Amino acid sequence: MTGMLSAPLLAASPVTPTVDFDQPGVQHGALRLPYSRDDSAWGSVMIPVCVIRNGEGPVALLTGGNHGDEYEGPLALFDLANSLKPDQVNGTVIIIPAMNYPAFQAATRTSPIDKGNMNRAFPGRPDGTVTQKIADYFQRHLLPRADLVFDFHSGGRTLDFLPFCAAHLLDDKTLEARAMATVEAFGAPYSMRMLEIDSVGMYDTAAEEMGKVFVTTELGGGGTARAATVRIARQGILNVLKHAGILEGEPQPTETQWLDMPSDECFCFSQDEGLFETMVDLGEPVEKDEVVARVHPIIRTGNAPYEIRAGYSGILSARHFPGLIKAGDCAAVVAVKVD
Ligand code: ZN
Repeated sequence: MTGMLSAPLLAASPVTPTVDFDQPGVQHGALRLPYSRDDSAWGSVMIPVCVIRNGEGPVALLTGGNHGDEYEGPLALFDLANSLKPDQVNGTVIIIPAMNYPAFQAATRTSPIDKGNMNRAFPGRPDGTVTQKIADYFQRHLLPRADLVFDFHSGGRTLDFLPFCAAHLLDDKTLEARAMATVEAFGAPYSMRMLEIDSVGMYDTAAEEMGKVFVTTELGGGGTARAATVRIARQGILNVLKHAGILEGEPQPTETQWLDMPSDECFCFSQDEGLFETMVDLGEPVEKDEVVARVHPIIRTGNAPYEIRAGYSGILSARHFPGLIKAGDCAAVVAVKVD
């Protein structure tokens, strides 16, 4: 009989890897995505990838550059790809230092080709934009291989963060516990039980819905990287691979302060535009209803600044970075210390 409903079959991915994910040893190559354009009729986007495999152990998928203007991840991962040897590895490490490669090349958060935000593009489409095609390849070809998914972020050009490693609260408490243990192993100065304001289309959500251990970071920001935050990234990813049993040895023991984001009230948004003044620096204590930032009108003198107040008592864990702010921008995030 006819008329049975079935999901439409997805087309094959247009991405061709130049590496073989099942081959032992070290391979440096690219995910090649055809991209026909003015300066190259039969051109491609070539996303760097490194695979280090030794035996049947766990598979870690490590990414940076999900947003193109965040640098601790790419710095740690290009370095890891150059230094890790197969005989150190039990299992497979797949390293993609710059996931949204066109955005990374342009030093912008989103892709200059299609304005695609990689972290809102999942599950992607094989017949979509360049960003959607990359997301689809991760969704259908890379995530299913992985036991552990680690995605580096920082604040980019418009935010600055306390250095923290983070995982989400999940309905699956076993998976949540495994993710939180990986966060603890990373050993950043702060560890966050993270709340998202906009989780639809995130890589995080795609991985978690597949039952993968998903861990992320926010390590700084402002569109650059600091020596201290890069050191945290480099040591942290080695700690995570040791915790997963992929590298030998124990994670380097570190003190971490756990933080929680209990509700949307953690996020302080500006309702005005103007000159941004943070009243508190990252890591400083904040009382509920304290003024954490002010927005000064810049059209003329004689108007009082607009005040932005904290929704919780805690510490300032993120702030707007540029000197000017617009209505709707996130001005500050106040997270609560967990003892
Ligand atoms: Zn990011």
